[in-house]
Amino acid sequence: MKARGLVVMKFGGTSVADPEKILRAAERAVQARRRARGVVVVVSAPGEMTDELIGLAHRVSRDPDARELDALLATGEQMSIALFAMACRSHGARAISLTGPQAGILADERHTRSRILEIRPRKILQELASGKIVAVAGFQGVNAAADVTTLGRGGSDLTAVALAAVLKASHCEIFTDVKGVYTADPRIVPDARKIARISYEEMLELAGAGSQVMQARSIDLAHRYGVRIHVRSSFKPAPGTWIEKAGEGPMEEATVTSLALDKGEVRLTVVEVPDKPGVAARVIAELAERDISVDMIVQSAPTHAGVNDISLMTPRPGAEAAKAALETLSRSIGAKRVDLTEGVATITVVGTGFRRHAAIAAKMFGILAEAGINIHMIATSDLKLCCVVDSRHSESALRALHKAFGLARAPRGNPSKRRRRPC
Ligand code: ASP
Ligand code: MG
Repeated sequence: MKARGLVVMKFGGTSVADPEKILRAAERAVQARRRARGVVVVVSAPGEMTDELIGLAHRVSRDPDARELDALLATGEQMSIALFAMACRSHGARAISLTGPQAGILADERHTRSRILEIRPRKILQELASGKIVAVAGFQGVNAAADVTTLGRGGSDLTAVALAAVLKASHCEIFTDVKGVYTADPRIVPDARKIARISYEEMLELAGAGSQVMQARSIDLAHRYGVRIHVRSSFKPAPGTWIEKAGEGPMEEATVTSLALDKGEVRLTVVEVPDKPGVAARVIAELAERDISVDMIVQSAPTHAGVNDISLMTPRPGAEAAKAALETLSRSIGAKRVDLTEGVATITVVGTGFRRHAAIAAKMFGILAEAGINIHMIATSDLKLCCVVDSRHSESALRALHKAFGLARAPRGNPSKRRRRPC
């Protein structure tokens, strides 16, 4: 095969969960090395190791020190890269492991959720030039104080995309335990189909809507730097899904690409907030100060009594603390109370052109109505339509929507038309 440019390959935790899997992943890197000009491999900690290390930290400390937690978590990826480099050698290739600091990944000081500031790839380039496969530890960097930091959960994706951008790789391959990005989660919708191509914008919406395939921050970065991503199975050779620039398919048509379901959030409602300037700002600022993420902020129109309700969705972990913070605020702004609603889920339809084509939203709401499902909250943009519904109905709702939008149909025609399904 023709020599290609440099390739960055990333193997997630399930792909390096045991020695056999590490050997298999290494074999793929060695094969890729024969075709590409150079191969950089980013590896995650094996299996559930990051969770186990966090558990361990909590066994010795109620509130583990963030710097020490990072020092501990970084060891998971370090174990993987060393084993990976050894496994590459077993397959007859030359390879070297580099930690985040050794690879020149400079990050800010925020332990456990650090951001990459810059990459100085001198050592990586030197090792590549000498013909080695370079295995870089994902999820870690070094801050100005020379301390190891980690980049937030799922951060190995970010490492891989950032390296692909800096090294100007031809693309970034994300090897994982699923075959690609699907029209819906195949565990819930059995006839869901693998998508051949999806735009950065749509993928970002999917990641934000509960799809676990890739970390949202890494897609954002890929979009900004134009890094083409190929998400594929580490166990099967078949092509997966390309995440790249939009631009193919019918220009002005509205299309539905994929559906997502998020059951990991609860709803918070501040009831009867006085209708005056500044209150919404105070409600959200209260949560922002605590770094609590919020989604789907909805404010009802004021009633004749001059009050309205403000509702939002927030991740279940931390929701009690968010409620307590809002209760204190409620007393000072004169709101009635704060409600926390469990048992809700958000269904998101991702695609393009929804603003110009209200018929798609009408279709979504109609399908839910036919199934007798009540919609608690709605939020829409040009790229997504979200409905919060009762969690117990959410899976059947997902299947009904998947069918009604024709997402399961076998792809026909040429590949450029295949990915987009006009509605
Ligand atoms: N090992 C880290 C985590 O589990 C980073 C990653 O897997 O991407 O979050
Ligand atoms: Mg992991």
